[in-house]
Amino acid sequence: MPLREGQIMVRNMLVGLALKEKVKIAASGKLHSGAQLAKAFALGADWCNAARPFMFALGCVQSMNCHKGTCPTGVATQKAWRQRGLVVEDKAPRVARFQRQTVHSLREIVVAMGLSSPWEITPHDMRERLNGARSDAIDRIYTFLEPGQLLEDPDATPYAPHWHAARADTFRRTQ
Ligand code: SF4
Repeated sequence: MPLREGQIMVRNMLVGLALKEKVKIAASGKLHSGAQLAKAFALGADWCNAARPFMFALGCVQSMNCHKGTCPTGVATQKAWRQRGLVVEDKAPRVARFQRQTVHSLREIVVAMGLSSPWEITPHDMRERLNGARSDAIDRIYTFLEPGQLLEDPDATPYAPHWHAARADTFRRTQ
């Protein structure tokens, strides 16, 4: 499931079941800019993980030879002579700079919104481009449940059929 769709579903399950305060959400998947981080927080993320962007900052050129030991950049290899391609003194500042600038970019977005932290960003604060001419607030595109809504009024949610089919004691379909 793409991050966006998966994250909204997980967020809705936790918020709808009044469990969001007890279970944290980590978002991960092509998050490599301040804007993408801001959107992930708007959708309920408590923190964001990233792997690939740091690989790129380290020099990975996506030749996809990680499993063969023949990485041309020395990033993912056990061969000592290939490892020499990764000059730590050169690459470490790049990775640090990438992290610093990405977080700085997120901070600029948060401040421009008049907020104090990324956890204050709501779906209404972010827009999604629908096509070349139109965009809309995220909360007008997707459904976001209110706290406890799935417990109190599941039929008013798009998850009603799944909710009624779900059982605590089995994953087997019963309906
Ligand atoms: S082999 Fe090296 S350059 Fe290629 S994808 Fe893996 S880490 Fe990146």
